[in-house]
Amino acid sequence: MDRYGFFINGEETTAHRHYVVQHKYRQEPLAEVGEASADDLNYALESAIRAFETSWAVFDRYRVLENAAELLGQQAEDFARTIAQEAGKPIKDARVEVARGQQTLRYSALAARTLKGSEIPIGGNPGAENRLAFTIRKPYGVTLAITPFNFPLNLVLHKVGPALAAGNPVVLKPAPAAPITSLKLARLLNQAGVPKGWINVVTGQGPEIGEQLVKDARVKLITFTGSAAVGQIIRAQAALKPVLLELGNNSANIVHEDADLDLAARTLAARAYGYAGQVCIAVQRIYVHHKIWEPFRDAMVQATNDLVVGNPEDPATDVGPMINEAAADRADLWYREAVAAGAKTLVQGSRQGVMVPPILLEHVAPSMRVMSEEVFAPLAGLVPYEDVNQAFNWANQSRYGLQAGIFTQNLKVAMQAARQLQVGGVMVNDSSSYRADNMPYGGIKDSGIGREGPEFAVEEMTYPTVIVLNL
Ligand code: NAD
Repeated sequence: MDRYGFFINGEETTAHRHYVVQHKYRQEPLAEVGEASADDLNYALESAIRAFETSWAVFDRYRVLENAAELLGQQAEDFARTIAQEAGKPIKDARVEVARGQQTLRYSALAARTLKGSEIPIGGNPGAENRLAFTIRKPYGVTLAITPFNFPLNLVLHKVGPALAAGNPVVLKPAPAAPITSLKLARLLNQAGVPKGWINVVTGQGPEIGEQLVKDARVKLITFTGSAAVGQIIRAQAALKPVLLELGNNSANIVHEDADLDLAARTLAARAYGYAGQVCIAVQRIYVHHKIWEPFRDAMVQATNDLVVGNPEDPATDVGPMINEAAADRADLWYREAVAAGAKTLVQGSRQGVMVPPILLEHVAPSMRVMSEEVFAPLAGLVPYEDVNQAFNWANQSRYGLQAGIFTQNLKVAMQAARQLQVGGVMVNDSSSYRADNMPYGGIKDSGIGREGPEFAVEEMTYPTVIVLNL
């Protein structure tokens, strides 16, 4: 069994304590990974501080991030296998994640080259004709990145890529369930030419090491992706440090009367159940115009039944395991609660341990946790509506606001959705789950603070300094 320490100051270091990372489908040990001690965290932070004291030219950052994209292409299959094994992600999705990771690196390289301040029209002030003002953007310094299990490569790159592009050294704490990808990534970045101390990876359990890092005064910026519950804890503990938060959602999707039903059903089923629904923008609440209720429901049942549940390393698999038994138990509990409160099951297979086949419900109510909370499991509910404004209102009755989807041929309805839905992104004729790596991505309400996408993240990860010249 492989054994990993940490990656600090440009090299792999030895851990004194380890924990076991499971193979998520086989449910057997996959590797031993280090549990960072206070000394390890200290070493990582000191290395990052020393890195920040050295200079790393913008052109070199660009070149190294491009190299990293190239290397990731060469090592793509190894990364995809690692993601499939440690995160239980179907291999076809893991391959897409790696290909997207290359895009994220390339957009980060571009962001390094194009980050800029702006001229301030200060001459518009009385008596300021002889002044010239402009801003430059400067990195905050040591950046703490804390990441979730579900996209162990691309979501990590959405933090590490822009942080390095902007000139911030990183201390990365990946999810304990899927840390191996991050450790391999640190090796790859080192190989690509990231100077020592700019990328440091420490592993271990979130509450213990996360809290120490979040509270440490040497950390100048925190970028977190994960659950709203942990996001709230981090924000409270961070005191006045700037914090970027990418949190959960219970994504609403609307199927209007003029929708392409086949496209809607196939897309929504794939995005509700793919990777067992463990995606922050996975389809969860589906509002369907009453005139197409029956044909859409039939198409959705068919599309759901067509999905292949099984071993994530099999290229045919759409739905693999959930991350652990506790997550599967919670999904099961919420499902049973919903049924007890009147929900009707349209599709459901038999659960076996971490394997939870797709569940499709109707007669769901907003009070049920499967609708009001983030389900983060292969479960979706259908609700009919009379008027599209009713669907917009229901969609907005959520503590979250990340992304939403609407299927319609009507431009006016599509633009009404874009204006009225209280979310960071509206996808037209696609599901809430669409994301391209250069778009601004992030939410409002309990879905978080700030935007990712390298061009936007480098802005968030730098601050402006205004310079006024009295000429
Ligand atoms: P999680 O919140 O349980 O853990 C995320 C990270 O936080 C892990 O690295 C964990 O170890 C760490 N952590 C836990 N407690 C901590 C603490 N007290 N202090 C500091 N760090 C702590 O999330 P998860 O189960 O790994 O991932 C699933 C969640 O992530 C879902 O809610 C999902 O919606 C969200 N997510 C959001 C996005 C997005 O871009 N908005 C993307 C993917 C996942």
